[in-house]
Amino acid sequence: MRRAVFPGSFDPITLGHINIIKRALPLFDEIIIAIGVNTEKKYMYSLEDRERFIEESLAGESKIEVKTYQGLTANFCKAENAPFLLRGLRNTGDFTYEQSIAQTNNAMTGVESVFLICDPSLSHISSSIVRDVKRNGGDISGLVPEAVGK
Ligand code: ADP
Repeated sequence: MRRAVFPGSFDPITLGHINIIKRALPLFDEIIIAIGVNTEKKYMYSLEDRERFIEESLAGESKIEVKTYQGLTANFCKAENAPFLLRGLRNTGDFTYEQSIAQTNNAMTGVESVFLICDPSLSHISSSIVRDVKRNGGDISGLVPEAVGK
């Protein structure tokens, strides 16, 4: 079973995340979208909302499951019997950040990170940009799936 975990904060899920997930569907038998819960982090959207946005945006995709987790992502992958960890890369900043994490995760549990390069039309989108636009009363509808925008 080729099972992958796609971890993130998803605060909120964006069109960038959706693009990576949809393009990864043919590569895996199952993708667990894993919302990381860090009790020290302040989120804009509640965990319930973040979960609901993902479920509504990907309704009907039978290969996808949404879960929440705490602690090390590599340990979560192991507990879920997922040999693969999926991440998206927007730019060299993402690459530099992800490189040492992927190497550490692999050394710890053997989990293999798989990276998809983001679609050029979506490389400006991040959850933090969405939150900034929203906080300042802007229109986020071009950045997020409908479930978040409404
Ligand atoms: P984290 O807090 O772990 O960075 P995010 O929810 O911000 O979590 O992102 C989860 C994953 O989605 C990361 O691999 C990130 O690089 C990727 N990602 C975020 N935005 C985009 C985008 N616009 N295009 C492609 N991948 C993206």
